[in-house]
Amino acid sequence: MERRKTRKVKVGRIEIGGDAPISVQSMTNTDTRDVDATIKQVLELEAAGCDIVRLAVFDEACAHTIEEIKKVTDIPLVADIHFDYRLALAAIEKGVDKLRINPGNIGGYSEVQKVVSAARERGIPIRIGVNSGSLSREILDRYGNTPQAMVESALEHVAILEKLGYENIVISLKASSVMKTIEAYRLMSQRVDYPLHLGVTEAGTTFSGTIKSAIGIGTLLAEGIGDTLRVSLTASPIEEVRVGREILKALGLRAYGIEIISCPTCGRCNIDLIRLAERLQEELEGIDYPLKVAVMGCVVNGPGEAREADIGIAGGKGKVALFKKGKVVSTVPEDKALEVLISEIRNMIGDKEKS
Ligand code: SF4
Repeated sequence: MERRKTRKVKVGRIEIGGDAPISVQSMTNTDTRDVDATIKQVLELEAAGCDIVRLAVFDEACAHTIEEIKKVTDIPLVADIHFDYRLALAAIEKGVDKLRINPGNIGGYSEVQKVVSAARERGIPIRIGVNSGSLSREILDRYGNTPQAMVESALEHVAILEKLGYENIVISLKASSVMKTIEAYRLMSQRVDYPLHLGVTEAGTTFSGTIKSAIGIGTLLAEGIGDTLRVSLTASPIEEVRVGREILKALGLRAYGIEIISCPTCGRCNIDLIRLAERLQEELEGIDYPLKVAVMGCVVNGPGEAREADIGIAGGKGKVALFKKGKVVSTVPEDKALEVLISEIRNMIGDKEKS
């Protein structure tokens, strides 16, 4: 797919926009003032494959936590700030890599100027984040609560920064309605070339939030819109990262580890395939190697259907066929299937890494 051309901004060691890979973000849900708990979660997010971590910065102690996190990891950090420009200055001072702040909400010209000049000095981008739930009275009167209202609201904030000659900007336009979110980003992508941070806000718990996010974020990405994303779930932020990565993987935009192709099962299936696929997923979690593994219910259609897989199994009566690139190479008792498959996968990874 062709990606929309955007400017590139730098968030610590990660780039957003232009030809940079689409990055996955999440946000800590610990009390940011609790240094130990927050560091622990940031490191967990990093280990889960999160590219950029955002923290709520709501008082001076939160800014101090940024400094402490920086001592143990270089994962780029974003300070999420509402209304108080002094917290933005404190976060910059402590080494934050990006701000999420709306310049129209932090006071007058001189306050904005102070934040912009500190951000400029350190090369820190500012994300303007508009949520459909917090549009101003004026905007609502003029446009109603519409995708266009979200776009116009964001552009008002953008204009404040542009007036100060500051264009190190990222924009997000989040709504809890999937269709409103999609429409707002589509409109914005026609207006500016700043990188866009995608997300469906307040998407819900893991099940429904994953579906909403996959549809909202996925639709936009498939149209070439979007440079970074955050999946918002009422769940652990680690789950957000897993879902975000899976969306990118499904669209072929990032290659993250092993991809499992498994059939939905039908009356021809003779083995406990669902459990086998789930256990395989758990076992292979965290292996960052691009390999397609198929888990299919029958030998009649399985290997053929999974021809694109590098390796896989297809169920038979009490045994499974092991196949590579769609060709059956041996058979194994069902109770040994998982063990054999994992060992074959590990061998393949080892061989490829050696060659
Ligand atoms: Fe059914 Fe076999 Fe296809 Fe699985 S691979 S859905 S068991 S026909």
